[in-house]
Formats: sequence, C-alpha cells, structure tokens
Amino acid sequence: MTTSTYQLRCRECGKTFDNQPRSVCECFSPLEVTYDYDSLKKNVSRELFASRAENIWRYRELLPLPPGFTPSLPVGFTPLVSAPRLGEKIGSRGLHIKNDAVCLPTLSFKDRVVAVALANARGFGFETVACSSTGNLANAVAAQAARDGFKAWVFIPADLEPAKILGTHVFGAEVVRINGSYDHVNRLCSQIADEHNWGFVNVNLRPYYAEGSKTVGYEIAEQLGWRLPDNVVVPMAGGSLITKIKKAFDELILLGLVEPKQVRFFGAQASGCSPISTAIKQYSSEIEPQRPKTIARSLAIGNPADGHYAIKAITKSGGWSEDISDPEVVNSIQLLAQTEGIFTETAGGVTVGVARKLIQQDRILPDETTVLCITGNGLKTTDVLADKFQADKPIAAKLSEFEAYLAAKNTDLPAAVA
Ligand SMILES: *Cc1c(COP(=O)(O)O)cnc(C)c1O
Ligand SMILES: [Zn+2]
Repeated sequence: MTTSTYQLRCRECGKTFDNQPRSVCECFSPLEVTYDYDSLKKNVSRELFASRAENIWRYRELLPLPPGFTPSLPVGFTPLVSAPRLGEKIGSRGLHIKNDAVCLPTLSFKDRVVAVALANARGFGFETVACSSTGNLANAVAAQAARDGFKAWVFIPADLEPAKILGTHVFGAEVVRINGSYDHVNRLCSQIADEHNWGFVNVNLRPYYAEGSKTVGYEIAEQLGWRLPDNVVVPMAGGSLITKIKKAFDELILLGLVEPKQVRFFGAQASGCSPISTAIKQYSSEIEPQRPKTIARSLAIGNPADGHYAIKAITKSGGWSEDISDPEVVNSIQLLAQTEGIFTETAGGVTVGVARKLIQQDRILPDETTVLCITGNGLKTTDVLADKFQADKPIAAKLSEFEAYLAAKNTDLPAAVA
C-alpha cells in the first residue's frame, strides 16, 4: 500500500498500482486515480476551499499532487455566468455558461489538465514533456512547459488551425506536424512514449492529466452556491472531460459538500466526427471509430480513448448526446457572441448548437438549471468566420461622410432595425 492519499486503479479489474507514469493495467484496461475518501472527508470543507485563492489549486486535496508540489500559475476558476439572452433565443430560463474561453494561461480548459499533468511530470522526474494534440492541448503544454522549465515536444496533425500552431511555436516548443489525423498522431505518440523517457501528458501521464478536468465540476458546484445543476452540456473529443465532471459531482456528494442530486449529462459533438453521439443515438455501448471531417478540429478524435466511459456516464445519468453540422457550428458561435458577448471556438459552437437541439427535443426543459461548458476561445479559430463579414469601404474622418454612411446603412438594413 502506498503512503500517498491517492493511487492508480484499473477501471475494469480493480487492481491498484503505486503512483507511476502508466495509463493501462496488465488487463489492458485504463487506469484512473482513486483517493482515500474516508480521510479526505475529515480534511475538506466548503469553508476550506472558499478561503483559498480563486484557482484550481483551492481543491488541492482532491487532485493527485505529489508531496512538496508548489503551483506556478493561477489556473482556472473561470466565470460561471447566467445567460438570459442566449436562453431566450434557445428556450431556457435557467441557462448558465461556464466560460473556459478565458481560462489562463492559454484560453482553453486544457490548461487545467496540463497543470495537474506537469505537477506529476515533475514528481516523476521527467525533464521533457510531450503530447499528441488537436490544438488546445499543444498550446497549454507549450506554455506551461516554458513556465515550469521543461523541454516540450508537441505532436499535431499537419493541417491544424494556424493560430493553434503559432500559439504553440511561440513558447519555444518543438512542434512535429504529422501527415494524418489525430488518431494517427496519438498512435505514434504511444510508440514514442515506449522509446523515450518523456512525460506524455495524455499518454503515460493520462490518469493524472484527466483528474485536472474535475476542477470544472468543482467550480460549477461552488459557483452555483454549492449546489448541482439539473443538466450539463459538454463537448466531447476523447470523452474524458464529461466523465471527469461527473466524477467531480459524485465526489462532492460522497464528501457531503453538496446535496445528492442526479445531474443529467449531455454530450456534444460535430456530425463530421461523432463516434460517441452516434453510439448513444443507436443505443450501443461500443464505439465505431470514424474518420473525422469537421471544422471543429479540437473535437476531431475518431477513436475516442474514453468513449466507452462517456457513453456509460451519459446514459446512466439519464442524459443524451447529439451532434450538429458545420454550418450550425458557425451560426452557434455567432449566436453566443451576439447574445452574451462570449467569443468561443468551434467546440463552443458545437455545445451551444447541441444545447439548442436538446431543448427542441424536450430533453432539456426550460425551467431547469442548465450549464453549457464553453471550453475554448474563438480567437484561435477565426478562419471559420472569415467569409461571414465583409469590411465596408473605409470613409474619410469627416462628420459629413459618416452621416452619409449612416443614411446609406439605414436604407440598406430596414430588416435588421425592425
Ligand atoms: C480537448 C477539448 C475538448 C474535449 O476534451 P475531451 O476530454 O478529450 O473529451 C473540448 N473542448 C475543447 C476546446 C478541447 O480542446
Ligand atoms: Zn485491470
């Protein structure tokens, strides 16, 4: 038995392992981090968490952090805001947005998982960290590796959005572009992890990485006044985030920090890469891998590592999963921006569009408390909006020119004014 308050445990056979950079059991099933909840119960309280600075480290007892770890960045604790204008458009009076478009340091929820993964990379003595990424993970690994003094190797599909590639290079990471999909990149990274003594955040450090996602759930509960919502809508790539928000809520109930409640989990995907939502809509518990073809690049994982567990979490909760087309993704990005002033990337468009669909299907009811997880920032995927707005011809800096411009505009756009 380990002296730590947490250890690794196989999700299928239950075999436990001392903490180590390892993600699969001898039975080939995934490992996850498990805690000594009895001792935690005596050591944590709402007041303790609330007394600390507003970042993910306020929940440190519920995260796998090696002894002596000191955080270098205030990651997380992003705003949870009510969204009445969006709610009016899509038919919900209890709509909230968890806004990880402004998560620090790199503007996506991936900063949370990387912060916890690098804490463990340090604990295990790695000097180099690495990842396979659909974009946001690359940014987060590169930035935090720079901050914490690791060397970083980042592997991405060659055709990712330019902003995500540039936003990785700038931090000095080695960026390897692979001809192929994320699934090809990920397979290669598993092989590299066997050959090199590197801490791959989402391969050999994956059980620790994944725990970082729980902080989204803790924050939602605390920001709702230590209550759980009725529904959560979560975008899915590998399917890890949605299962970890569920784990967070289950832990808060177990520790007596919130009243027990059955929260329904709703998964969101793009139709061009929807292996998880397709399985759920077919009442299947197994994933059929797909070849991704969608502008929602951050969600484009055709063979999701946690797909099976995401299906289980969603269906057991009484939730559902849906997917929307690429044009709907773009419309939904604009809808969120124009109603709530939040500029999200394609993954957030997927979440908003799917939420609208689920409300139309009466799977989410108007008076329920519903939280949409907006997981990334729109400045990273501006390409998808490029043909949506034409810049008007510039005018001279003269009042008369502006008045003429305004008059022309008003005759142009009677419908928009009405
Ligand atoms: C990675 C990612 C997700 C999905 O995360 P998983 O845990 O792999 O399901 C959602 N949104 C954004 C913006 C992401 O980068
Ligand atoms: Zn096992």
